[in-house]
Amino acid sequence: MAVTEADILRALELVKLPASGQSLSASGRVANIIVDGGKVIFAIGIDATEAAAMEPVRKAAESAVSGLPGVTQVLVGLTADKAPSSAAASARQQAQRPTPGPGGPTPKAAGVPGVKQIIAVASGKGGVGKSTTTANLAVALSVLGLRVGVLDADIYGPSVPKIFGITGKPRLVSGRTLAPMEAYGLKIMSIGFLIDEETPMIWRGPMVISAITQMLREVAWGELDVLVVDMPPGTGDAQLTMAQQTPLAGAVIVSTPQDLALLDARRGVAMFRKVEVPILGIVENMSYFLCPECGARSDIFAHGGARHEAERQNVPFLGEIPLAMPIRETSDGGRPIVASDPDSAHAKAYLAIARQVMAGLGGPVRAAPRIVIE
Ligand code: ADP
Repeated sequence: MAVTEADILRALELVKLPASGQSLSASGRVANIIVDGGKVIFAIGIDATEAAAMEPVRKAAESAVSGLPGVTQVLVGLTADKAPSSAAASARQQAQRPTPGPGGPTPKAAGVPGVKQIIAVASGKGGVGKSTTTANLAVALSVLGLRVGVLDADIYGPSVPKIFGITGKPRLVSGRTLAPMEAYGLKIMSIGFLIDEETPMIWRGPMVISAITQMLREVAWGELDVLVVDMPPGTGDAQLTMAQQTPLAGAVIVSTPQDLALLDARRGVAMFRKVEVPILGIVENMSYFLCPECGARSDIFAHGGARHEAERQNVPFLGEIPLAMPIRETSDGGRPIVASDPDSAHAKAYLAIARQVMAGLGGPVRAAPRIVIE
């Protein structure tokens, strides 16, 4: 028989909070319990400043529930639903966030130790080239001298491993901590490594929230200047929660120039504004068509729409990337164009976007000076 919510709460009575000694069940902090066959996921609400202190509680909760009969897998995430203290906030190096409005402080997620800035690459809908943009932007940021990680959180179609030509699974380094995979000098982790392809879609939405916590905090990222997160496409609840629970320094929105895609992009801008994440800008992908034979350019989708939309929304326009065979071939072939053909015009377009993103991130991220020995 499947485990019930009551069984889970009973098991959590044995887990005590460090400060008060109160049981986790009685604390009212357990939320979003989901049971799917033998799998159990739930969240523990914390203040962002408690993240480190509550980690043993999260682990204890997981092992308490793992012991229940019929439970095969347990995922517990800490979710910060209170604003952190000013000390924790400065540790997050998020100086450029706008101050909260008169409605009181907006919930913020705790930062990830060692990771200076986290940015999201998002799109209002799927298929616009978000993952291709994520991969090439990440390589471009690395070419510009930053230490870069990529976190593929696209629960509906994790394609980052394929774009980087990664096979195999990450290995455990200690306890639950996973070593990120590596490609082209980047540290890479994908939700595709954690869920199997059979996982039903209905399970993925809620699961992403715990999984993102796990991928952010239980991966040995090491020291990174920037972690680029490939978000799930769309602007639904899962995306909104993720935007809120990830300590984001900014978001890049990818759109194609068609009206409908632009409408979706507008929703993307609105979503990040709602959770007070600065918009670093909009990229127009598949902006125009470059004929592979003759090099002639045609604006098949009324190119320029994203630039106008960016102006209308008062956010930066980061640049346009053409619909071009070499971009598709390198992306689908595991060799992002910025890595495999860095001198090409397409790679230069991504590099220009990366420079703007760096500028948008402002002070904290700065490339270390390169030392040249003559
Ligand atoms: P998303 O992450 O938005 O679903 P992908 O990055 O997976 O989109 O891209 C969808 C498909 O379009 C892939 O086959 C990819 O290679 C291709 N693609 C993306 N951007 C371009 C581009 N600028 N030119 C040509 N093909 C592209």
